[in-house]
Amino acid sequence: MNLRRILVIATRNQGKTSEIKALLKGFPVEIKNLDDFGPIPEVAEDGDTFEENAYKKASFAARVLGFPALADDSGLVVEALGGRPGVYSARYGGADATDRSRCDTLLAELTEVTNRKAAFECVISIAVPTGPALTYDGRCEGMIALSPEGDNGFGYDPVFFYPPLGKTFAQLTAAEKNRVSHRGIALQEVREEFDKILKWIDIHMPIPERVGCQADKS
Ligand code: IMP
Repeated sequence: MNLRRILVIATRNQGKTSEIKALLKGFPVEIKNLDDFGPIPEVAEDGDTFEENAYKKASFAARVLGFPALADDSGLVVEALGGRPGVYSARYGGADATDRSRCDTLLAELTEVTNRKAAFECVISIAVPTGPALTYDGRCEGMIALSPEGDNGFGYDPVFFYPPLGKTFAQLTAAEKNRVSHRGIALQEVREEFDKILKWIDIHMPIPERVGCQADKS
């Protein structure tokens, strides 16, 4: 295996890794994730934008591990809340909150609010160890439902109503959701451009120094 053709997904989430592996099947690249390596320090997701956080995660993994790395950052942007919870989506509702309690907190914040417009946003960053990165994004518009519906998915899926299909994300199958979701759209863009991405990686990856045995000419 050409070592310059390894792509590390900067996550320990097996579901995410499998989804990306399936999507990039057939391309000459070996997909690994952080669990394929020893312990590496956690990176603080303290950026103000999805772009910043995605780049932080991807470039940190690339620098520490010496391979190109892909990371995503995503969240729910609610118009009536000025874009909150946004980059704080995972931390919304406090440290002990669960997916269910975060949905309940959101619904409580929106009681009496008629503007229910919201969008899921996702940014994917692909970085090389020397710093440069490519960015892809995806957005999916919907409405915050009046009450949670459906048991599939995770996070805010039960309260994210998607008008074109007349269901919340939690009422969709994984395949249905992947076709229309913010992450699905961004990943599809990565897939469509992946030949170009591989060429970009090849150009930007440092060429390993060859240390061979040389005859002593002295
Ligand atoms: P991360 O980008 O995987 O860290 O996700 C950030 C947070 O945004 C998650 O913990 C969820 O709360 C929320 N989120 C992101 N994508 C989705 C989705 O597809 N469905 C529901 N919630 C999501």
